[in-house]
Amino acid sequence: MSDSVATVKKRPHVVVVGGGFGGIAAVRKLKRADVDVTLIDRHTYNTFQPLLYQVATASLNPGDITWFLRAIRANQSNVRFIKGNVVSMDHEAKSLRLEGGVDVTYDYLVIAVGVTANFFGIPGAAEYSMPLYRRSQALAVRDKMFANLEEAAVNGQDRDLRIVVVGGGATGVETAGAFAELRNNDMPTTYPELDTKRVHITLVEMLPHVLAPFHPKLRDYAKKSLEKRDVELRLETAVKEVRPDGVLVENGGEQQFLPAGMVVWASGITAHSTVRDWSLPQGRGGRVETDEHLRVKGMQDVFAIGDVSVSPDEPLPQLAQPALQGGKHVADVIRRQVAGKSAPKPFKYKDKGTMATIGRSSAVAEIKHLPRLTGFPAWIIWVGLHVATLLGNRNRFATMTNLTAKYLFQKSHNAIVGETPPVVALKPVVVEARSPLRIESKSSAKKAAAKATAKKAPAKKAPAKKAPAKKAPAEKAPAQQASADEAPAAGETTLPFDK
Ligand SMILES: Cc1cc2nc3c(=O)[nH]c(=O)nc-3n(C[C@H](O)[C@H](O)[C@H](O)COP(=O)(O)OP(=O)(O)OC[C@H]3O[C@@H](n4cnc5c(N)ncnc54)[C@H](O)[C@@H]3O)c2cc1C
Repeated sequence: MSDSVATVKKRPHVVVVGGGFGGIAAVRKLKRADVDVTLIDRHTYNTFQPLLYQVATASLNPGDITWFLRAIRANQSNVRFIKGNVVSMDHEAKSLRLEGGVDVTYDYLVIAVGVTANFFGIPGAAEYSMPLYRRSQALAVRDKMFANLEEAAVNGQDRDLRIVVVGGGATGVETAGAFAELRNNDMPTTYPELDTKRVHITLVEMLPHVLAPFHPKLRDYAKKSLEKRDVELRLETAVKEVRPDGVLVENGGEQQFLPAGMVVWASGITAHSTVRDWSLPQGRGGRVETDEHLRVKGMQDVFAIGDVSVSPDEPLPQLAQPALQGGKHVADVIRRQVAGKSAPKPFKYKDKGTMATIGRSSAVAEIKHLPRLTGFPAWIIWVGLHVATLLGNRNRFATMTNLTAKYLFQKSHNAIVGETPPVVALKPVVVEARSPLRIESKSSAKKAAAKATAKKAPAKKAPAKKAPAKKAPAEKAPAQQASADEAPAAGETTLPFDK
């Protein structure tokens, strides 16, 4: 037995707060670095925000777009995960505190906590509108929509139903387009009790156009595509107040109240309020100010990347690519510093382009080295890139399967639904089924109608020679005899099953 004592050198500890695009990119790039990495997130999963609206509009499962953060250890052994909400930081002691009292010390700190909705102090917006940043928020939107529809289906549609989407950026356009398709394509089959002409999807935007960062031609395409889907566009319109039953808007100095069962907030972003307690220099929108290496201004070993970070000289768009590229860059800076190497070149964002989809086979794309695209080509690239960017093969397969099934089998009308509260009848309601309940496909309905016409009009029978073979339908098919008896009795309550 050797009597030598092994001295274990403590490796630098890199703490990454936030398991979004930026945080994950930084952690992965540190895989071969001589460091120990701790990833902290308030959730046990990563959320792929670009497809949150698909969860909100019943097209994807929440599990399709969320990824278990501890799974990062499958390919990387120098990382561990802690679930926690960072509430305060002490940069002198190089430590941070998690809600619940856990302290974590660091040698290098990467802040990648993203941003949240900005309600701009508009009365009622925070209380009554529904933002789309978290999985739980997307599920809340979906479940509220179905709760409203189920309620109207039982209590009768004595009023117009409206969903207001606030904000004509990519999220607002995508959400409004998806709601409109659900109303136009699915509701006539799934909610025959409701008159879809009285179901409105309204998109409110302060600017005179939607999709502001895009080329005017693409904005026009998106506008027309929304109008084609009967999205009611309220441009140059400001939201003044959100109330439990709708929104007060203003256009050209005139105010109008839009009654709505649901208001989705897709406008404006700001840093999380807790960042104020982290002793960091904050700039526009509360974002943390950084230098050319994404180091927090005035600090040596603290970095901020992605949506939460801003370079005062060159503010970047709050999109996935700046976060991904920023994460890789700071990991490179740390890796080189730990290895005693010189710093890399300053961070330079490579703009690869932007995309937004409006609905089925409709999208706009500005991609580097490609001409501006609209319609199906833009849409198919949008689908491919989103699926490829998801984390985890299971999520890629599941999302691809769900999106493909939705595209190919649109007539199945199979929405992804969750829990809705019990429907309370506002006045006594009795629902009586027709006996027997008959739901017909279009072709069988046509055949039945043709037979009924033949039965009603014996004078127009085929020539006598051919007639003997053609028995009266009632004799031939007892089941059809029953259907002939289906006429509702006077006063019978019937639902328009075959509307
Ligand atoms: C609805 C929607 C649609 C979008 N669509 C697109 C799109 O199509 N294309 C595109 O490029 N971009 C899109 N974006 C923007 C894109 O998602 C963001 O730019 C990107 O997620 C930023 O990455 P990030 O790493 O900075 O932050 P995020 O991805 O937001 O990750 C932040 C992480 O930090 C965690 N966190 C927050 N606070 C704390 C705390 N106190 N303690 C611990 N953990 C914390 C969060 O749980 C989260 O996991 C969209 C955003 C939204 C909301």
